[in-house]
Amino acid sequence: MVLAELGGRITAALQSMTNATVIDEAVLKECLNEIASALLQADVNVKFVKEMRDNIKKVVNFDDLAAGHNKRRIIQQSVLSELVRMLDPGKPAYQLKKGKPNVVMFVGLQGSGKTTTCTKYSYYYQRKGFKPAMVCADTFRAGAFDQLKQNATKAKIPFYGSYTETDPVKIAQEGVERFKAEGCDLIIVDTSGRHKQEAALFEEMKAVEDVVNPDLVIFVMDSSIGQAAFAQAKAFKDTSNVGAVVVTKMDGHAKGGGALSAVAATKSPVIFMGTGEHMDELEVFEAKSFVSRLLGMGDMSSFVNKITEAIPLDQQPELLEKLSQGQFTLRIMYEQFQNIQKMGPLNQNIQKMGPLNQVMSMIPGFNEQLMPKGMEKESQARIKRFMTMMDSMTDEELDSSNLKLIADPSRLTRVARGSGRPLRDVQEMIEEYKKMSKAWNGMKNLKINKKGMLNPA
Ligand code: GDP
Repeated sequence: MVLAELGGRITAALQSMTNATVIDEAVLKECLNEIASALLQADVNVKFVKEMRDNIKKVVNFDDLAAGHNKRRIIQQSVLSELVRMLDPGKPAYQLKKGKPNVVMFVGLQGSGKTTTCTKYSYYYQRKGFKPAMVCADTFRAGAFDQLKQNATKAKIPFYGSYTETDPVKIAQEGVERFKAEGCDLIIVDTSGRHKQEAALFEEMKAVEDVVNPDLVIFVMDSSIGQAAFAQAKAFKDTSNVGAVVVTKMDGHAKGGGALSAVAATKSPVIFMGTGEHMDELEVFEAKSFVSRLLGMGDMSSFVNKITEAIPLDQQPELLEKLSQGQFTLRIMYEQFQNIQKMGPLNQNIQKMGPLNQVMSMIPGFNEQLMPKGMEKESQARIKRFMTMMDSMTDEELDSSNLKLIADPSRLTRVARGSGRPLRDVQEMIEEYKKMSKAWNGMKNLKINKKGMLNPA
């Protein structure tokens, strides 16, 4: 994925600065040059790259920094916060309100993923307890209504449209009125797209907007459009009251920098990103977590979001308690293995797992490491081997998180003998334990805010 490349380059630039013995203006300049060139290659608008550089230079004033100040940390922090600032317009998007009909209109070019995103969005909020409905006001593209109908049927969401009516304004108005009357609290209006920005598209969009009077207009943008993003997003913003952006196809080869430009052009936050063609491949977008993921720091906020979505509210406090206090033991690892054996690899049938195991399978990097994609069969065999060896361990060993005890050579030899496996297999199992333990502790150190978790955004 190209985005990963961008993250890698920025991280490398920061790293090279960390490796320098002295940090002076020249070192900073070199580091910023490298970051700027990475951003430009990722299609971030030149103007923003320059702004970012200027802002960082302002924060990192070598004359002002007292001796002993940690310049590295200050520079790293300011790079992070500048990237977040670029993605965060500082004003949140309209929040859907329960108990009133929220009307949300989708706009964007043809092929951007608008219709697909309408369904994903409806499906997302349906799971959150809303009663969504979709209106197809796209009379331009043949087959648009059929596509929406098909998607809506699959998600069991009511829809409205027409094969014969050619006036999108009329359809939009009728659809919204009907669903308001039916008590739907989230009415989604999908509008026409065109291949390129043209006057007819914008006139039609404006007319639909005037008649449905949406609470929120969402601009859908294909993440692979590159440098054209800024102009495109701006054109939409200038015509309609865009209040949020959804960036699609982030699973592909997108450079992603366009997303930054769209935020700047519309002064609206990215609220979701599309990560595939399926209905549930829509992720909540948060600038901070996006940037940290970009820089390879693990995506902890989206991890927290996943927990809140997957686990019943009443079980969350207990679970958090366990996570914040518990030590990662071989027994927990064993249980996780049992789970994988029972439930199949990563995230399949996740709903059937117990809460603690659900959480474990969501820890970034946890299951991917245990069960690399495409190696499921080998991994299953490996896990089985590990479990056989663990069957030869004592309760004391299984319940300990003390590496001195667990990895004691004479104990390992005993386990090897008892399970009939070579010693190096036992050592490999301990290495696996160390890695998982590290991931677990990394998560514990987050000190996840309990209140925040119980009150998801
Ligand atoms: P519209 O013309 O803007 O309504 O676009 P569609 O919703 O018809 O989407 C165009 C194509 O992009 C379809 O083949 C979708 O399946 C695909 N698509 C939409 N969103 C995503 C996404 O997030 N990832 C991937 N890989 N494909 C997507």
